Parts: sequence; C-alpha cells; structure tokens
Amino acid sequence: MSEHERTFVMVKPDGVQRGLIGDIVSRFEDRGLKMVGGKFMQIDQELAEEHYGEHEDKPFFDGLVDFITSGPVFAMVWEGQDATRQVRTMMGETDPAESAPGTIRGDYGLDLGRNVIHGSDHEDEGANEREIELFFDEDELVDWDQIDAPWLY
Ligand code: ADP
Ligand code: MG
Repeated sequence: MSEHERTFVMVKPDGVQRGLIGDIVSRFEDRGLKMVGGKFMQIDQELAEEHYGEHEDKPFFDGLVDFITSGPVFAMVWEGQDATRQVRTMMGETDPAESAPGTIRGDYGLDLGRNVIHGSDHEDEGANEREIELFFDEDELVDWDQIDAPWLY
C-alpha cells in the first residue's frame, strides 16, 4: 500500500454504450481518489491480446478480446491511498451476480463477460505499472495537486 498509489481502470465497451462513464468517474471522485490520466479510445486486437495475456489459455479468451475491441473504452489512471484495493472493492466481484449492490458491477452488471469495468488486479504485483504503461505514454499522465482556494467549498 502506498499513499500515492496509481491504478489502471477502464470503462469497458458495454459501460460506454450504456452511458456510465460519468457515473463511474463520479464514484471515484467522491471516494477521494484523484484522476491523473484519462483517454477515450478504441482498443485494437494487438493491445487487447497483450492486455489480457494472462488469460490467453482460457476458453473465454477469444470472446473477451472480441468484446473489448467491439467499441470504445474509457481508460483511466487514478491515484490515492491504497488505490488498487479501493477500486477493486468499489468494482465488486468479477461475476456481477456475486457483486453486492452498491458496487459498480453489483449496480450495473448482469453478465459475466459484460461486467462494465476493468481494474488492475490487487493481488498481481506489477499489474498496475504494466497496464498503465501499456495504455498511457508518460506525458499523458498529469501530476497535480488539489489547491486551497477561496472559491472551493
Ligand atoms: P477481473 O476483471 O475481475 O479482474 P479476471 O481478470 O479474472 O477478472 O477476468 C478478466 C475478464 O474476463 C473479466 O472481467 C470478464 O469480463 C472476463 N471473464 C472472466 N472469467 C470469465 C468467464 N468464466 N467467462 C466469460 N468471461 C470471463
Ligand atoms: Mg483481472
């Protein structure tokens, strides 16, 4: 755990199609996390296969790659204390059917494949760095501080 941990998060194509980007961003802002990168983009086959490389031997791999390349996604990097675990907790379980109401997948998902959001794996050390580097150039990440201004209430 670190004070300024950065974690990779992505609204998947089903979440984009359903207009959930704003809600999902709001949830992380409300939690107190800070966005340091955001990109609306289309994932190509090569990026999809690399991103989900750990699952290449699974029976659902081809379907997963087809799905994640089927439409635009919103890729983000969020920063904050214990950010990876915070995001995973807010996401719910991989299977929406096992996700508690109040979590993102528990509130919006029904289908195991179409589960609205991706977040880096908390258990997989190095997953964050790998995924952030895969999706963002260094100069696309912004170091910024919340200011103390009289017009901020
Ligand atoms: P998570 O996204 O919660 O980290 P995994 O890394 O295990 O879950 O799997 C990556 C993605 O692959 C899941 O979010 C889901 O979209 C899909 N997936 C996982 N398991 C299955 C499965 N048994 N059948 C279909 N799709 C699956
Ligand atoms: Mg995973």
